[in-house]
Amino acid sequence: MKLFDYARADSAEAAARAGTGEGTRFIAGGTNLLDLMKLQVETPDKLVDITRLPLDGIEERDDGGLTIGALVPNSDLAADFRVIERYEVLSRALLAGASGQLRNKATTGGNLLQRTRCYYFYDVATPCNKREPGSGCAAREGHNRILAVLGTSDKCIATHPSDMAVAMRALDAMVLTLKADGDRRRIALGDFYRLPGDTPEIETVLEPGELITAVELPAPVAGARHLYRKVRDRASYAFALVSVAGVVAMEGDTVKSAALAFGGLGPVPWRDPAVEAAIVGKPATDATFAAAADVLLADARGFGANDFKIPLARRTLIASLRELTGK
Ligand code: SF4
Repeated sequence: MKLFDYARADSAEAAARAGTGEGTRFIAGGTNLLDLMKLQVETPDKLVDITRLPLDGIEERDDGGLTIGALVPNSDLAADFRVIERYEVLSRALLAGASGQLRNKATTGGNLLQRTRCYYFYDVATPCNKREPGSGCAAREGHNRILAVLGTSDKCIATHPSDMAVAMRALDAMVLTLKADGDRRRIALGDFYRLPGDTPEIETVLEPGELITAVELPAPVAGARHLYRKVRDRASYAFALVSVAGVVAMEGDTVKSAALAFGGLGPVPWRDPAVEAAIVGKPATDATFAAAADVLLADARGFGANDFKIPLARRTLIASLRELTGK
């Protein structure tokens, strides 16, 4: 591992100021960053340790929502009774991710920023535009079984690995940040991630030194059913091949409201308003669900080994909608 400097931040403001330097990274749980450093994928010059900042609380909001500190461990968030009662989809998604030991260390902010699990990203002997811009993409013609079928570019076909972020996308979460100049931002999670395009190495809209301080969840949808369905290669400690986070409210046999987000399919936690529009106000039937799947997958494209994800996503969405609507 390359030698690096280490500094412990004693305030969020100091951390943001210290984080602007070239080659500087924040570290909290370190469940992804340390692996990347051992493999020489990440070679920071300096780590700013933020673990002692007072960002580990879950607070009530006036609108009935919650503000979740960036350092709340994934296991604590999953077990919080308010999350279980109001945002079951989030608790279920968290418990579907990683292992118990990792969830005890992994933080809310770090989970949002974890890097893709594309095999080539972790193998410094292979071309990877995300790791080394301009070097190429070994995955397009290589082992791409776990990679994306939506939102890809010529430069990168990686998936975002988080389960938590998929649930938060369905819940219309907001990311709260603090910039190095002291300004604060509230960024809708839907605007937080960037598609790969020509610059797959840039994954979010965060500026250098910009620190995630919290995630806000708006008030829950009254009377809605929640679901997180994750299809993976083994029952635990595996990333999603396809996942669906759903929050659906019914009025009789008609879908009153729907929020649907998907993991394992795209470079970002995927949500398409047209999919939801295909079912809201419609009767909860298999024909309606199939129409929603048609919309979701209209532009899907496989790269050989991951072609199976397209029919798998279709079946997973339809099964999820049956459960969410009680059909
Ligand atoms: Fe790298 Fe993206 Fe290609 Fe994987 S898919 S090798 S992360 S450029």
